[in-house]
Amino acid sequence: MNPVLNEPDSPFDLALRPADFSDFHGQTKVKEQLLVMVEAAKLREESLDHVLLCGPPGLGKTTLANLIASAVGSRLHTTSGPQIERAGDLAGILTNLQERDILFIDEIHRLHPSVEEYLYPAIEDFRLDIIIDQGPKARTIRIDLPPFTLVGATTRAGMLTSPMRSRFGIPNRLDYYTTEELQHILMRSARLMKVEMHPGGAHEIARRSRGTPRIANHLLRWVRDFAQVKAQSVVTEEVAGQALTMRDIDETGLDEMDIRVLEAIISKFDGGPVGLNSVAVAVGEDASTLEDVHEPFLVMQGFIKRTPRGRVAMPSAYRKLGLVPPLSGQTELF
Ligand code: ADP
Repeated sequence: MNPVLNEPDSPFDLALRPADFSDFHGQTKVKEQLLVMVEAAKLREESLDHVLLCGPPGLGKTTLANLIASAVGSRLHTTSGPQIERAGDLAGILTNLQERDILFIDEIHRLHPSVEEYLYPAIEDFRLDIIIDQGPKARTIRIDLPPFTLVGATTRAGMLTSPMRSRFGIPNRLDYYTTEELQHILMRSARLMKVEMHPGGAHEIARRSRGTPRIANHLLRWVRDFAQVKAQSVVTEEVAGQALTMRDIDETGLDEMDIRVLEAIISKFDGGPVGLNSVAVAVGEDASTLEDVHEPFLVMQGFIKRTPRGRVAMPSAYRKLGLVPPLSGQTELF
């Protein structure tokens, strides 16, 4: 499991979280669309339309939910799919909302189906139908809710039920950041942390950060410590390189689990195709973590390919592990 991507936000994360859209670098298309929605809602003096944010962990979904709330000047209520165990929990949250409040539900694909049923009328018609008593005495009470905005975040858009997906407008997909975007984010973080860093140092950390701001910021924290002890507190390209090599951070950003996944597909399953669950058992990792955290990055980097029959290692994966890829074209057969 990648500890940085699975742990809850630390005070360190919170201190570096952009407080304003102008500090949120990258994801230009998503940002522009959200700003238009915010502006339109303000002009109409209505609550913002519901928003769905999709993408791997650490790319800024929670940050965007916070930015949306502050841009429209509304209160933000934060919860997550697994936290809402019963319909009663949801009723408690919804009846606490005020007009134009933002309700942020992280991991919305993990909402229990019975809870989801209650959420539909709440987001569509701003009403909650609660069933009281059971059997012949059962009756429904309708509670009107103030117009509010649901911001849902998911690492797995594909796992959302279609009624849920249809309740949102166009989904906002967050992509991995480019090295240049991460370099920019790191220079800002260094300023906030009062770390003296050369652009080359930021570039070196950025290219090893798996396209993910949360990882970039965590690597910066380690590099800062290293520089303090070994390099008079100045982060140059060379210092950053030495610090990250000391922690076995790969030149292309792959972590230990990514490498284990590639090794398993190639050496245990002959390069694939192999099902995700078999890979998960082989590497001793939860299948959903592989699917959320590792697979999207490995696919994006061109190391593996998803096919209807399973995951296949691409020639670059063999080369990464110092192996000779199978004859040209063989991996394309599947
Ligand atoms: P997610 O909800 O997608 O897992 P978060 O919104 O919690 O990701 O972001 C993780 C951390 O990365 C935040 O604490 C923030 O400091 C940083 N971060 C994310 N996106 C950006 C960005 N575009 N610019 C600057 N920092 C960012």
